[in-house]
Amino acid sequence: MAIKVSNITKEYGSQKALDAISFDVKRGEVVGLLGPNGAGKSTLLKILTTYLQATSGNARVNRFDVLSEKKQVQKSVGYLPEHNPLYLEMYVKEYLLFNARVHGVSKNNVEKVVAQTGLLTECYKKIGQLSKGYRQRVGIANALLHNPSVLILDEPTTGLDPNQLLEIRDLIKSAGKPHPDGTPGKTVLLSTHIMQEVEAICDRVIIINKGKIVLDKNLNDLKNNKEQIVEVEFDYRVEEIALQKIPKAKKIENSVGFVYQIYFDTEADMRSSVFDFAHDNGLKILQLHQKNTSLEQLFVELTTQK
Ligand code: ADP
Ligand code: MG
Repeated sequence: MAIKVSNITKEYGSQKALDAISFDVKRGEVVGLLGPNGAGKSTLLKILTTYLQATSGNARVNRFDVLSEKKQVQKSVGYLPEHNPLYLEMYVKEYLLFNARVHGVSKNNVEKVVAQTGLLTECYKKIGQLSKGYRQRVGIANALLHNPSVLILDEPTTGLDPNQLLEIRDLIKSAGKPHPDGTPGKTVLLSTHIMQEVEAICDRVIIINKGKIVLDKNLNDLKNNKEQIVEVEFDYRVEEIALQKIPKAKKIENSVGFVYQIYFDTEADMRSSVFDFAHDNGLKILQLHQKNTSLEQLFVELTTQK
């Protein structure tokens, strides 16, 4: 087991940020810790990287205890903290060489991570001169520097523009990929509040809300979920009871104006049925799209206040 979390609780004064959390992460697994702001993601990641002590429970990384074997845990883990704190006055290469010395690893590692994270052209600039995307690369390069088997990344793509976001996701995916010889890639635990991120990068999702795990599932299992939502906007109001008559329609929601979410329990594309319905009822369709949003849906259901 690469990560083992057993019954971790963390209290800040009277507030319980984590409430008896337990889960395991297998070697080579890429796991997304998904939750709204304030769910307790950063708190958990800080505990796993030894920067914070749990109030009770315990956690192990590569079998090392986060409390009694801090040094070994730190050696096992590459950590990108939330907000990626960097020395803006330092040059990229200088910063990485400095950290290589701190970790006691060779200069070769710096060359390696610079190439791996696409920093070759930027490595003689000051960190403060870099774009946010490149700063994230520096943070990830830094996390990879001592070639840890476990990567813990706290909101690695928050604040990036869409291109940078794709680049950083690719970088994370490649770190998690198994090697050609079949040995597992790095174990990755990353936090995010964006569900598409989990779908794009992860093998597994753990949703956390108010300090509790509310879902822990493999993405493949979620993808096999047959539920489908067709979102449609008509030019006029439609009674939900009329929409219920569309074949296989299970549930209707009217989110805003004349926009309806129609839930179906089938894999077949139901947009044409909705189109036929509009045609038969003299309605015009202003927008129509199919959403395979099982994860999105679950996320909303599991993390909104009832
Ligand atoms: P997330 O990363 O999921 O947004 P955090 O782990 O940062 O959540 O925070 C979880 C909860 O704990 C929040 O309500 C936050 O305000 C609180 N919290 C986090 N750090 C501290 C701290 N140092 N002192 C007091 N409360 C904190
Ligand atoms: Mg956080």
